[in-house]
Amino acid sequence: MTLPGLSLEALSGILGSATRARSARRWLYAARPLPASLPATIPGVAREAWSKLRDSAPMPEWRLAERSRSSDGCVKYALDLRGALVETVLIPGRGRSTVCVSSQGGCTRSCAFCATATLGFARNLDAGEIVLQYALARAEAPASAPARNVVFMGMGEPLDNLDAVLSAVELLTDEAEPRLAASHVTVSTSGVLPGMRRFLREGRGQLALSLNATTDEQRARLVPHNARWPIAALLGALREDQESGSGRRYFVEYVMWDGLNDTEDDAGRLVDLLAGLRAHVNLIPHNPFPGSGLRPSSPEAVGRFQRRLVAAGVRCLVREPRGRDIAAACGQLAGRLAGSGPAA
Ligand code: SAH
Repeated sequence: MTLPGLSLEALSGILGSATRARSARRWLYAARPLPASLPATIPGVAREAWSKLRDSAPMPEWRLAERSRSSDGCVKYALDLRGALVETVLIPGRGRSTVCVSSQGGCTRSCAFCATATLGFARNLDAGEIVLQYALARAEAPASAPARNVVFMGMGEPLDNLDAVLSAVELLTDEAEPRLAASHVTVSTSGVLPGMRRFLREGRGQLALSLNATTDEQRARLVPHNARWPIAALLGALREDQESGSGRRYFVEYVMWDGLNDTEDDAGRLVDLLAGLRAHVNLIPHNPFPGSGLRPSSPEAVGRFQRRLVAAGVRCLVREPRGRDIAAACGQLAGRLAGSGPAA
């Protein structure tokens, strides 16, 4: 166990009171920069209680291997977490920043268009290691844009590490610090059906489905596990949740490739697939990486596609790539250090 991964209840148990637990949480999220280890004392917690915590739940072992800054203000952190190299991205926006966290070292899935897939799978991160990434980036967010959003869109398939991800979402939205709104925490999946069902039942945050195609044939070529969990079943799980009265909105991510899934027919099929679902579509032009061999759709094709969806009453935004120049954009996270080889 580590401090960022402890529930308030567990923390209260170790420190001997809920007041001390809250002081410890406040300290953790106000620390600038984030410390690598716990100091001998902190304000508001008796020394003896604090040393008990230091012995039983220290900081996760982490080392900042590299920090890269993009010309558009994004910051990518390459973290060494006990030998697993993972990446976290701070994305400053107007009035608030988003932190993109990783859930695994490498990834359990092998999507054809994603750089992380080329790494293979190293290991699952624990809840403390996921929350740590948020705390680290939060400490560096501009004062004018505090880090209030978290997206699980870094390395890894979050629903293949669901216990840790559910705990991390709970910790991030805890009524003590950092108190993120559940509507501001989004877990993104490549379509792991049993995990989706459990997340929708038990999870506090929002769910994004990376659909990326409109026929099973097309999707199975890009996302191999589509053969097991096809499009209709994935959207069916969202529909069931909607019909159960959860009140959620669903994000549908759609990466766009030239001539592959950006045609008029694709737009029409996507409209049909989403009929009746409270879905927000995010169009993401493909971010290239070395060896990807896929061509992004042209801005014109993306614009046409968006207009077709909007005309049919589907909410749809185009996600402008951020952090491309430091290989920090969607699908570019591959644990390459700038000094160590052919980064994009
Ligand atoms: N495994 C999860 C979360 C990580 S990927 C998932 O698949 O959702 C986060 C987002 O980046 C997904 O929507 C994915 O479709 C998108 N993505 C992956 N590779 C990409 C690339 N090369 N260009 C643009 N987006 C990409």
